[in-house]
Amino acid sequence: MKIFYYDIAINLPLRQCFTYKSNIDIKNGMRVVVPFGKKNIIGIVIKKQINLNIDKDLKEIKSVADEYTCFDKSIFKTILWASDYYHHPIGEVFFSFIPTMLRKNNNKTISKSDTNIEYKINKDDKNLKLTPEQKNNLQNLNKIKSFSPSLIYGVTGSGKTEIYLQLAEKFLKKNKSVLILVPEINLIPQLVNRFKNRFSGEIGVYHSRKTSNKRLDIWLKSKFGKLKIVIGTRSSILMPLKDLGAIIIDEEHDQSYKQTEGFKFSGRDLAIKRAQLENIPIFLGSATPSLQTLKLVKDGKYKKFDLLRRVDGKKPPKLIPLDISDSSLLGGIASQTMSIIEDTINKDEQVLVFINRRGFAPIYECDGCGWVAKCSSCETNLVFHKSKNRLICHKCESVYGVNEFCPDCQSDELNIFGTGTERVEEVLQNTFKHIPIIRMDYDSTRLKGSIESIYEKVNSSQAAILVGTQMLSKGHHFSKVTLCVILNADGALISPEINAVEKIAQQLIQVSGRAGRSNNLAKVILQTRYPDDINLNKIKTGDYQLVAEQCLSNNKILNLPPYSFISILRVTSPNPNSSIKFLDKIVNLLSNKKSIVVLGPLPSIPFKIKGNVRNHLVIKSNSRTYLNRVLNFLTEKIENWPETKKVKWAYDIDPHDMS
Ligand code: ADP
Ligand code: ZN
Ligand code: ZN
Repeated sequence: MKIFYYDIAINLPLRQCFTYKSNIDIKNGMRVVVPFGKKNIIGIVIKKQINLNIDKDLKEIKSVADEYTCFDKSIFKTILWASDYYHHPIGEVFFSFIPTMLRKNNNKTISKSDTNIEYKINKDDKNLKLTPEQKNNLQNLNKIKSFSPSLIYGVTGSGKTEIYLQLAEKFLKKNKSVLILVPEINLIPQLVNRFKNRFSGEIGVYHSRKTSNKRLDIWLKSKFGKLKIVIGTRSSILMPLKDLGAIIIDEEHDQSYKQTEGFKFSGRDLAIKRAQLENIPIFLGSATPSLQTLKLVKDGKYKKFDLLRRVDGKKPPKLIPLDISDSSLLGGIASQTMSIIEDTINKDEQVLVFINRRGFAPIYECDGCGWVAKCSSCETNLVFHKSKNRLICHKCESVYGVNEFCPDCQSDELNIFGTGTERVEEVLQNTFKHIPIIRMDYDSTRLKGSIESIYEKVNSSQAAILVGTQMLSKGHHFSKVTLCVILNADGALISPEINAVEKIAQQLIQVSGRAGRSNNLAKVILQTRYPDDINLNKIKTGDYQLVAEQCLSNNKILNLPPYSFISILRVTSPNPNSSIKFLDKIVNLLSNKKSIVVLGPLPSIPFKIKGNVRNHLVIKSNSRTYLNRVLNFLTEKIENWPETKKVKWAYDIDPHDMS
């Protein structure tokens, strides 16, 4: 009898596969049941070994779990690439792309779904006349038949979504499927509505807040060619859609495409890799594209398609800096700002107030001795949440009671300081008693359906004020908003972080983009103490390309990404000495490598989270391939060090933030 040997990936944080034997010939990407420890668990077939000098005592595969493979060829290859590029344990990468229901050894199997979904185009929804820019670009985009990344650079309100709809239509007509990615769950309902109005037939919606049953259902329907349109967040990037025709990535610049916990990857980059391996078109849309994408356009690797005007032919509003150096603020709002808000309300129009901080106030302190409420396991100040009457740590979500007396000096003169969304909401509600004030932040959107009800409220109101964090700034279409107010961008404006200017420019231009989408007399007010800041002066023109060009040429001079490649090695440990010793040993090991620059060990910010101190090393190189090789070398070494047992370590490849 012939015996086969297989490398099997297991859902564990291990950078290795396990070899099992079987007399069955099994394809790569199949789920199998294997004995592991005392249990029988699910593994994924990674490779058939032809080398037959293998130890005969290997354990045997118990059974093949499904009739069908779990990972088709191109998805399988994309995952192998990801595990290598991000240096993440292979099993965890594989398992993170299958529905939870299929991760465990249970009675769920990959079985054909027998529903039949038919797609029809709703002509009534399509009676608008494309703008000349839309028409021209669409004609060219429709010519793309194979892998060739396209950036759709369209200012806010220029009708990018209409382009997505018409691109999708073309692929559906050819009986191909389309995957549409958005950076945040909150953006899904709006986009799903646009697709539902245009196409009859089920639109698959996939994200982490769907039940595991629903996710399995969408996954199976996609795999067996029933679903042709799936809209989802980064967890759906490798949705096994049959006959995939194209991938659309909306808001490609958005930081939320990056997974920052566990398997840290860029959803955008993974989607591009998938498109490349499947040799299909990929469309990246944004009003504020990432520097990385813009550089690839410059290098001639991506094509750019411009939509520089809104559908009404006007340009988006400019930002007006309002100097508040001499103003007193009420809940973060200057009196001049308040009267502009009032004028807008009196015209029965809507106002959007942006403040990048949730909760009521970020500091709770003692007037007597200066004590400040801090989290006991993180190095962060506690944020006062008035609605819950609690102090909350935004790093570990620990909840504390509100002290009545100072724990240090027993004074009862405890005060809050600073402003968050809840406080702005309260101040506005006290000022405009009969106007709906609608808050949109992490706290107000956690429950299922909450984003839909926020939309409902905004749409059914006349005069209203929306208050929110960055969540409110992205992609949403609020047609009655004619005034945007940005309260506290100064911190980000003068931040020393790399790419701080890119980030704040994206954020401010995105927020401004929410105003005047159906009214060209819109205004955007930015409260600032630095009205003459050079970056602000560029950003306020609303011309993102101008800012991005500047950032690119600066980064080129400084040899920063996208002109170089960075990986951060992050270490956490309950013991500060262990992590520094560990990092010092790495610095030593890398000291003879010529083509890299190593910075650190550095303390991370915040230094302590959940009782663990955090340190990191920055490793930079001009060559992606070389950096990858160095990290492979490093991984192999450190996996065998005794010091490794005392710390938790992980790479962050192409990090978004360096602290
Ligand atoms: P973007 O995605 O670029 O921000 P949208 O696609 O949301 O812009 O378009 C903004 C609004 O304009 C939407 O309400 C959309 O229905 C409408 N719209 C798009 N294209 C046209 C067009 N050619 N004529 C009229 N209205 C349009
Ligand atoms: Zn005190
Ligand atoms: Zn904490």
